Amino acid sequence: MSGVHEHEAIVIGAGVAGIYQIKRLVDLGADAVVLEAEDDLGGTWFRNRYPGCRFDSESYTYGYSFSQEILDTWHWKELFSSQPENLRYLNHVADLFGLREHMRFGVRIASMVWDEAACSWTLTATNGETFRARFVITALGPLSSPTLPAFEGMDEFAGESFHTFRWPDDLDLTGKRVGQIGTGATGIQIVPSIAPIVEHLTVFQRRPNWSSPLNNRSITDEEMEEIRRRYPQIFENCSTTVGGFEHVPRWGFWEATPEERRALWDELYTRPGFAIIGANYAEIYFDEAANQELSNYIADRIRGRVDDPEVAEKLIPTDHGFALQRLPLETNYFEAYNRDNVELVSLQDTPIVRVTADGIETTAGHHDLDVIVYATGFDAITGAFDRVDIRGVDGMMLADEWADGPRTAVGMMTNGFPNLLMLAGPQSVSGSTNFPRAIEDGVEWVSDLIEYARAEGITRIEAEQAAEEEWATEVARMQDRLLIRNSKGWFTGYNANLAGREGKPRYQAYFGGAPRYRTRVAAIAEAGYPGFDLR
Ligand SMILES: Cc1cc2nc3c(=O)[nH]c(=O)nc-3n(C[C@H](O)[C@H](O)[C@H](O)COP(=O)(O)OP(=O)(O)OC[C@H]3O[C@@H](n4cnc5c(N)ncnc54)[C@H](O)[C@@H]3O)c2cc1C
Repeated sequence: MSGVHEHEAIVIGAGVAGIYQIKRLVDLGADAVVLEAEDDLGGTWFRNRYPGCRFDSESYTYGYSFSQEILDTWHWKELFSSQPENLRYLNHVADLFGLREHMRFGVRIASMVWDEAACSWTLTATNGETFRARFVITALGPLSSPTLPAFEGMDEFAGESFHTFRWPDDLDLTGKRVGQIGTGATGIQIVPSIAPIVEHLTVFQRRPNWSSPLNNRSITDEEMEEIRRRYPQIFENCSTTVGGFEHVPRWGFWEATPEERRALWDELYTRPGFAIIGANYAEIYFDEAANQELSNYIADRIRGRVDDPEVAEKLIPTDHGFALQRLPLETNYFEAYNRDNVELVSLQDTPIVRVTADGIETTAGHHDLDVIVYATGFDAITGAFDRVDIRGVDGMMLADEWADGPRTAVGMMTNGFPNLLMLAGPQSVSGSTNFPRAIEDGVEWVSDLIEYARAEGITRIEAEQAAEEEWATEVARMQDRLLIRNSKGWFTGYNANLAGREGKPRYQAYFGGAPRYRTRVAAIAEAGYPGFDLR
């Protein structure tokens, strides 16, 4: 296709963030379009189709809050809804507001160049199409850039092998010998889902992750009615907690007796969702001794669920405390290892030597496999930015600027890249909370800024360096006071699949909590955007 497609605003990405953003832009009367690389909308919930894929957030605290019509018309069927249902939900929202007509699919943006004279961005897609827009809003996704390990021989495997992000639609694992590498949030959902159907499942564990029960169940019609009645209260509750959930943390770890702490944990362990981290003592995030006691409790729980004591010990992390990395929630994950057809291989004991045509060879021997599943995670938060060649003022390249970690002004913009606004991006609060709650706040802040710019005749908005420096200090301060600061997970930018990302922690997400963040960005808007150069 030839010619340049001109728009006032372009949103890149049609996930939870892009869908709401285009709704707000359409409501503003802006000439706007969403460009989406995949063949349809949904983002995370379009792409991740592996068995067992579902929310860890309660369905009804995850859903959008911005429209009464959505709340009235959607019936969540499970406390933690599965991927097909989540995708149906996002399609329902798009259809309700006729948003598809403002979306283009199969358009992957490869480069973006700032044109100072025209005060606009020129975007080029991998299919050669060119777009121009005054404002670009990235909704690229925090976990949309999958990463693979680099084992010798990966290309030589004769069976099917794939990253969980690209699980084949027609794959039948019945009677197959499957090898799964990785036991993060995704891997922990897959193991118990496929264990009953495969002939043999070999789980290659790089490092064990803590995990605790999801405690999912269905939602009856009567309960859904009650949830609908409670919606205003639910979203009000979510807006007051650090994590954007209804779970309310408490202080007083050391004031309680060990028996009282244990009684609380016994109760939280059987409660649905993130209660075990959200409604626990806040000291577990700050105080090593408090965290160790809870970790010991969870370790005993694992020992109580896994028949073979040696396997149980291998499943218990020793390099980080409970709740200090993104906590995967599980359904019968640990019991899966009690099956005769499930085998755990700890790669810390016996590393992978190579992938062969018919399996995986470790230092202990060869595992014959028909299928290899790479549950090896994502280049989180900044990965999708690094995959686009973004050139700002004087040709400066975003990937270079962020080589040692992202720098932003309140997670919304970055100096040298005018009119580029970011949703759920680096150093915003989204990464450390129930995503959609913070995504809605971000969309509203960005939409208000664009509305303000249109009303005031402002055509150029750029984050000032001083604002970026101030935010860098705040982000570091909030992260460094938490035990999370040393964790080797995506919260802090650790990624064993990426060169140079196993060392120093990065400051990728804001850990000051959702209310503090919301207050901060609201104050900026109310004060006429100090820290942002508006012309
Ligand atoms: C398996 C899984 C489970 C999760 N569970 C939860 C949960 O329970 N609770 C929670 O709060 N969060 C969860 N998350 C995080 C989840 O990513 C967010 O909740 C939310 O979906 C993010 O929405 P988004 O719109 O920001 O990004 P995404 O849904 O990732 O959408 C980004 C879109 O941008 C597109 N895109 C990227 N780059 C380009 C480009 N260059 N050109 C064009 N298009 C591009 C992508 O194709 C994608 O469609 C989970 C994530 C995963 C992977």
